[in-house]
Amino acid sequence: RPPDVASVRKVTQNTEPIAIRERTVDGFTREFLRELNFGQGVDLSRASVNDQYLALARTVRHYLMVRWLETLRRQYELQAKSVAYLSAEFLLGRQLDNALLASGLQDVVEEGLGNLGIDLATLRDAEVEPGLGNGGLGRLAACFVDSLATMNVPCIGYGIRYEYGIFRQTFVDGWQVEKPDNWLALGSPWEFPHPEAAVTVSFGGHTETYDDEGTERTRWVPGWSVLGVPYNYMVPGFENGRVNTLRLWSAQATRAFDLEIFNAGDYAEAVRAQTFAENISKVLYPEDSTPQGKELRLQQQYFFVACSLANFLEEVLPEDFDLRRLPERIIFQLNDTHPVIAIPELMRILVDERKWNWDDAWAVIQKVFAYTCHTLLPEALEVWSADLLGRLLPRHLEIIYRINEEFLDGVRERYPDDELRVRRMSIIAEHPERSVRMAFLATVAGTKVNGVAALHSQLLADKVLHDFSEYFPEKFTNVTNGITPRRFVRLANPGLSGLITGAIGDGWVTDLERLKELEPLADDAEFRRLFREIKTNNKHRLVDVLRERDGIELDPDTMLDVMVKRLHEYKRQTLKLLHVVSLYERITSGVLDIDKVTPRTFAFGAKAAPGYRMAKQIIGLINAVGRTINEDPAVKGRLSIAFPANYNVTLAETLIPAADLSEQISLAGKEASGTGNMKFALNGALTIGTDDGANVEIRQLVGDDHFFLFGLTEPEVADVVDAGYHPTSYYESNKTLRHALDLIASGKFSGGDRHVFEPVVANLLQEDRFLVLADFQAYLDAQDRVDAAYADTDAWTRSAVLNVARSGFFSSDRSMRDYIDRIWHTPPIDPNA
Ligand code: PLP
Repeated sequence: RPPDVASVRKVTQNTEPIAIRERTVDGFTREFLRELNFGQGVDLSRASVNDQYLALARTVRHYLMVRWLETLRRQYELQAKSVAYLSAEFLLGRQLDNALLASGLQDVVEEGLGNLGIDLATLRDAEVEPGLGNGGLGRLAACFVDSLATMNVPCIGYGIRYEYGIFRQTFVDGWQVEKPDNWLALGSPWEFPHPEAAVTVSFGGHTETYDDEGTERTRWVPGWSVLGVPYNYMVPGFENGRVNTLRLWSAQATRAFDLEIFNAGDYAEAVRAQTFAENISKVLYPEDSTPQGKELRLQQQYFFVACSLANFLEEVLPEDFDLRRLPERIIFQLNDTHPVIAIPELMRILVDERKWNWDDAWAVIQKVFAYTCHTLLPEALEVWSADLLGRLLPRHLEIIYRINEEFLDGVRERYPDDELRVRRMSIIAEHPERSVRMAFLATVAGTKVNGVAALHSQLLADKVLHDFSEYFPEKFTNVTNGITPRRFVRLANPGLSGLITGAIGDGWVTDLERLKELEPLADDAEFRRLFREIKTNNKHRLVDVLRERDGIELDPDTMLDVMVKRLHEYKRQTLKLLHVVSLYERITSGVLDIDKVTPRTFAFGAKAAPGYRMAKQIIGLINAVGRTINEDPAVKGRLSIAFPANYNVTLAETLIPAADLSEQISLAGKEASGTGNMKFALNGALTIGTDDGANVEIRQLVGDDHFFLFGLTEPEVADVVDAGYHPTSYYESNKTLRHALDLIASGKFSGGDRHVFEPVVANLLQEDRFLVLADFQAYLDAQDRVDAAYADTDAWTRSAVLNVARSGFFSSDRSMRDYIDRIWHTPPIDPNA
């Protein structure tokens, strides 16, 4: 239950340490030392960096705590409509800097620590980022909760507190080796566990019907249960006094030991139940776009939504709340299909537990869920085998069947004699085995379905969910993704932030469209000089980080050409690599005059899902090419590859501000949106990209003259595929392409061994599902245009400034406004009310 109002008032008014209210350097220092002494149990002279970091984090927490309690109190009093953002992933990144920024404490802390001889930057580096997500989808969730807090919109983020987040990537002989991400090992000062508020979540068992005073009802008799313990995290708005909550669930056994077994001496058996339960939140599934039907994953999904629904209904809402009015209080946004099992769960609660009739429950359901789809790849649309679902959640499967039956009755009524359509639209697929299509369930039940960029939403409606967009045209909408300018410009790029603020004031941090005011400055030579200077400084910062982190020596005087994102064939890291190999091959064979080649550093960052063999081969190949090129004196100073292992949010924050060129080269029609693309544009990199995902909108906004477009369009891709795609015809007709592929096949990058990378080459020549070879020449031509443009430093800088000035649209604040207007209808709370 939310804090008792009177006690919160007392806290905020009477017991708040004066130092905190005054925010003075002295006050901060006292608080910090108090934390070090009484929280960590060390004095300054003996404190390790980790002690200092933990004490600092806890001190900063104090400053936000009062606002957090105040936000909760007001939320409880006002009973305003909230967003519950349900997401299996929140890729938060480091917390300290963001907390300092939000609370406006940066200067006080820097000075206070400085007086004690402590360097803030050292403590910053002691933080291990919580990597509770795979990539774009999880980072998007983190950006969204940041924006909602900053915009004063009530929101609870609900997810899973994985004990091990996304694996730590290492390279051994150039091959990816995964290590566990033990992010909690040194303490986790940003979380607040509440074991007393644990929720019981059940699985398995069977269902039975019974007579309830003349009405036949069903109840679920589960087979086993676990506890979900909430861990709360603060989500501070930027300098606005609001602190929203992110609530992540951790699984525990209902009985830590079975005493009887324990006493009988069977220790292993006694802890088995505990291990079994805790497995549910043990590890983040390191998959991206290609889910595997793993039972544990389904357990995770149900676990966190069941905890979240119970928490919202029983703890957040007042005791006597009439659930018929639920749509006035909440919208549950489903971030992809991972939380979709929440739909039958809420039906179960209303129909079985609260004893509503089906139609009343269904009417509420259709108003409180909305679904965001994140993919266009058919294999990434999640399905669960009915057999597994029925074993794990028997009552939910029955409910899904009934939802489907009633839905299909409607379809039949609208389209009599069209059984084919009925089968296509069924939530239950029959082949290759009976299974539940989670995206269909979300579409049928949700109030809205949105794609994540204009092109993606169009393709969803026209192709992936076409029958549904015909049936429910009013449900389909678009919200183009966005990124938080606080973390990815203000914090990640202090130089650029200072330049912008100096030019147009600091209003852009919460109103990113104001970057437009920079446009005239693109023609100001002094502004461009300063802009370039900042880019150079950012490169030097990256040089230092990569030297320290990876032992990589990067040449800051070269063009920094960056492709960082998950390794996936549709994203086409191989296309980038073929460009590099081709340059190398043409230089070393004398076709290209080395003096005419623009010096470039190609930076890669990419994790491959551990079970994705081709992706891991490609990582091996990038590293192998990197080793050869970096060691070859023939291209020294002209071409080099930097592939730091373990690309994560922290690395993104130094890499992206240093980049000159942003590689967004997925096959058109495959990337739903991308968010990396937005981060680069906002940090003054120019994009080379296909007409895919949000690239389309970036290009439209920044203008064709400031974007390097290439490649087949989505309809052209469809035509090529329909006509029968033969990659070998490109290989045979394009000498440059042939030489590049032959060089790889020759064993040049694998010590003469022709077999090592044969699978990559063979795949490109025989199948090439993502049309790398078809786009190769267009890509090379576009790279020539990049070189020509880069040669004119002033014109390039002008384009870079215009990229920044025209990308304000990609703020996640704007995304949130679109969600609010089109889907949620959750007005901000007036901070002065
Ligand atoms: N991984 C990390 C660590 C990120 O920060 C991001 C987003 O910026 C992504 C992956 C997603 O990148 P992209 O949108 O290029 O796929």
